[in-house]
Amino acid sequence: MFNNELIKKFKDTPTPFYFYDLDQLEQTILRLKSLVFHNNYQIHYALKANVNEPILQMIRKHGFGADCVSGNEILQAIRLGFDPQKIVFAGVGKSDEEICLALDHNIGVFNCESLQEVRIINEIALERDKVANIAIRINPNVEAKTHHYITTGMQTNKFGFSQEELDELISSIFDFKAIEITGLHFHIGSQITDIDVFRNLCLRVNEIQDWFNSKGFIFDHINLGGGLGIDYQNPDKNPIPDFEKLIQTIEQNLKVRSGQEVHLEPGRSIVGQCGNLITKVLYIKNGGPKKFAVVDAGFTELIRPALYQAYHKIQNITSDQEPMIYDIVGPLCESTDSFGSGVELCETNRGDLIAIRSAGAYGEVMSSYYNLRKKVKSYYSSDFTEQGFSDYLGTQLEDVSMEINMHL
Ligand SMILES: *Cc1c(COP(=O)(O)O)cnc(C)c1O
Repeated sequence: MFNNELIKKFKDTPTPFYFYDLDQLEQTILRLKSLVFHNNYQIHYALKANVNEPILQMIRKHGFGADCVSGNEILQAIRLGFDPQKIVFAGVGKSDEEICLALDHNIGVFNCESLQEVRIINEIALERDKVANIAIRINPNVEAKTHHYITTGMQTNKFGFSQEELDELISSIFDFKAIEITGLHFHIGSQITDIDVFRNLCLRVNEIQDWFNSKGFIFDHINLGGGLGIDYQNPDKNPIPDFEKLIQTIEQNLKVRSGQEVHLEPGRSIVGQCGNLITKVLYIKNGGPKKFAVVDAGFTELIRPALYQAYHKIQNITSDQEPMIYDIVGPLCESTDSFGSGVELCETNRGDLIAIRSAGAYGEVMSSYYNLRKKVKSYYSSDFTEQGFSDYLGTQLEDVSMEINMHL
């Protein structure tokens, strides 16, 4: 992944920073695209995984739509030229302002999570003389077999319609004059590596769709959400997730009605492997039996290990000495500020560069200014010039909120 020329450039670059391999990203997009090209699929990339401009540009260039979970994500997608009809708006807590904004931009679909939300969208759409297409998010009660913090499809989760609310929606649907139910939406969790989970989801969706059909509801599309996992252990061996198996599983198990579209919302599986956090070793210190490598990145740059006990492969890219065992820790005043414990690294010294791999998804987007840290910078393989989110954050987010205000 990192050749000598690149490492030389890294050495001249202030750390920490994100490095994104755009070729890797494009290969990943092309693989998925090749599998769904001839079929009735629409891919909506889940922006929340990574919103950097060059990344979004490439995803849009290949014709994917956008799955947004906030008004600002919708504006970002529109600003970068995503087709509004290919934008879906998801989330349990859409504010009135965000609903207005989505309606004004004529987005494709609202993925709705509760009866009250549908009522509010209906009211706002009526006032604006619009009709809102909605997909109903159903909690299919399928176990995602992933970390319990990131499962979403069980009955105990906060997501999706409950059965009671669903019955009420169905019995009163004709009261909702500005609502068109066009789809069913499911998303059962993230970092799912057991493909049987998607098989079980498809089988549940078949039952649920049959039930709706028996009540006289038919749908333009079935949205199976995102959630496909990536290989955090072996990013070099498996740089592209197993899209083949996912699509094959859907084709073999989901009963798609004639003319119906299948929508997918991959986030992590598109951008996860193309991003790396590059950080420099500040100090090596001994803590009793342990050896700590203190690096200049912390959970302010990448919070997944601290937040989800997530594993990232960690490499010393400037040492070829004999391997030793280290705890890799950040500079923040929190014990959870650690990227890994008992990590085997080539013998590590002050000034060495460490790559934290597979950090393209839910990495930079979750960065924070805790401890008054600087916004982490990002660089891209294409030209290795500074661009994108780091610079755009300060100015653009202000623009974005101004734009939102203009809509009120
Ligand atoms: C987060 C999310 C996604 C993307 O999930 P990944 O695991 O990154 O693929 C898709 N749809 C919804 C509704 C989400 O909340």
